[in-house]
Amino acid sequence: MIISVVSGKGGAGKTTLAASIAQVFSTEFYDLDVDAPNAEYFLQPDFSEKTPITQPVPVFSEELCDGCGICTKECRFHALYRIMKTVYLSEPLCHGCGLCKMVCPQQAISYHDAPVGDIRSGYSQRTSNMVHVGDLTIGSTRGTYLISEMVKRIDSDKLSVIDGPPGNSCAAVAAIKPADLVVLVVEPTPFGFHDMQQTEQIVQQMGKNYLIIANKAMSTNNVDQYFQDKAKKATLTIPLENRYHKANLQGEILSQQFSEIHIGLHTAISRELEKL
Ligand code: SF4
Ligand code: SF4
Repeated sequence: MIISVVSGKGGAGKTTLAASIAQVFSTEFYDLDVDAPNAEYFLQPDFSEKTPITQPVPVFSEELCDGCGICTKECRFHALYRIMKTVYLSEPLCHGCGLCKMVCPQQAISYHDAPVGDIRSGYSQRTSNMVHVGDLTIGSTRGTYLISEMVKRIDSDKLSVIDGPPGNSCAAVAAIKPADLVVLVVEPTPFGFHDMQQTEQIVQQMGKNYLIIANKAMSTNNVDQYFQDKAKKATLTIPLENRYHKANLQGEILSQQFSEIHIGLHTAISRELEKL
């Protein structure tokens, strides 16, 4: 069973709460925020394994290619284009699907492996479980590919927590896709609510079970009023408090330090998991 923790807006406290949920339920943890993974500062795993991830990218033989253009027409990601009789590849658009090689009548296409990133894995004493971190190669545009490779490695028979990328991009969708339960973290500000609505739409369209946690709330009344107006409810509201902020800055896991956070997360999430 997989819990994906996401937020429409960066800085809402998604990673802070994902680490806490992993600690509360002692789950495996997958940091899929591959552009800027930082859950390890809370989880402090002892990394013991590093797996390079590559993606196949086509290479064209000038001798064999007759410029027929079949591959450029078939590539649904528009990664190939033809000028005169020469085929060019826009590498960032290529998804490594292998179709161009299959359709080429001249066998003019082979593949080379382009680096995408690494997956680092290690045991965390803080969660008593494994932590897996995706590091996207600097400058690479293949975050979604790296996320998909990490998702393939998740054992769905175990309870796992995914820390997804912020925002509502393809990468965020890739982190939501495998989830049995989505935890949507919102910072209760006008910006935060705006971005949350976009993420909520995606989650609803994907038919996912989800709950909302309002984090860093300056006033619980405002949060209650907002959700009342929208005819829905935040499952849990965590107030903006200096002691939480300080613990966060020191790399502490909030649920380990504060029993009210531990109990709140345990109650809110186990109630949803029981329904699945
Ligand atoms: S591998 Fe797939 S995505 Fe990449 S260029 Fe070929 S057809 Fe397009
Ligand atoms: S399908 Fe093959 S032969 Fe035709 S343009 Fe593409 S690479 Fe060249």
